[in-house]
Amino acid sequence: MDPCLACLYWPTRPRPNRHELIAAALGQHQLRVLSHMVTGHAVNVPLPPDVLPIMRDIPTPSEAHLWSQRSLLDDVADTAGLDAAARERWHGCTIDQLYRDGICGGALVTTTLQGVPQEVVVPVAHQSALAGVLLAAQLLVASDPDLAPRRPESTEVRYDVLQGLPQVLARPRKVTTGCLCQDPDFQEVFGASEV
Ligand SMILES: [Zn+2]
Repeated sequence: MDPCLACLYWPTRPRPNRHELIAAALGQHQLRVLSHMVTGHAVNVPLPPDVLPIMRDIPTPSEAHLWSQRSLLDDVADTAGLDAAARERWHGCTIDQLYRDGICGGALVTTTLQGVPQEVVVPVAHQSALAGVLLAAQLLVASDPDLAPRRPESTEVRYDVLQGLPQVLARPRKVTTGCLCQDPDFQEVFGASEV
């Protein structure tokens, strides 16, 4: 049985929650980030003091009172070295938008937030898009009777966008233990041969 797509990305350890990911990327406390996520509060506006008690599962740090005096954007922008004009771009944005465009899209890390140089971060956003295009191309090729036989036998191909060619692209790959493609219920519904 060949590995499925989920086999390639099956987690081998617990993954952080989204608010934990964003908090780590922005260098902010989890409770502050979670408060923004839950309320949809814009990042350029300090949090109202009565928002925090909603999150009882996370201990409130001693500096929490500062979150209602200064905006999260100001703190992140100070760390990133953004001037007032650069901060204005994020006015009215949610924490998700700040994370997606600022960190994932590389807009905030054009300076050196967390010491991540621009040339490392920016290609990663493109890398993700490129992977999607290649995956869609494989689907089209596989569904064409003339092109399908030309597909390589290897299930997994990896290309490091930060390195030039030549690279070893094809990788041997087995089914990942514990993946959903080995689940009897999954197989019964979708059919093992189509996985
Ligand atoms: Zn699988």
